[in-house]
Amino acid sequence: MSESTHQNEPFPCRECQAGMMRLHHVTYFTWLGEELITVPNFPAWVCDMCGKREYDEQAISWLTMLLSPNAGMPTRRVKQTRQPGPRKSNLSQPSMD
Ligand SMILES: [Zn+2]
Repeated sequence: MSESTHQNEPFPCRECQAGMMRLHHVTYFTWLGEELITVPNFPAWVCDMCGKREYDEQAISWLTMLLSPNAGMPTRRVKQTRQPGPRKSNLSQPSMD
């Protein structure tokens, strides 16, 4: 078993291919509707040569997950389960005559 990808290790920048992307903690800004959300100490990979910034994928997905309940995502699935309701016998009982 080999360790998958880079954890917190610097890795070569894809943009300039000369610098190294290093983990920094920055303040991440995102809009949630009309509200500006700031997330301090957000992990970001910053190239020490060209300054390209890339956010940590896991952190982004974590943040997305965190914000999604309030974000009113259009793709939100509403599960419609039909409740059978209180059980009542549909069998028509023969009327006593
Ligand atoms: Zn770079």
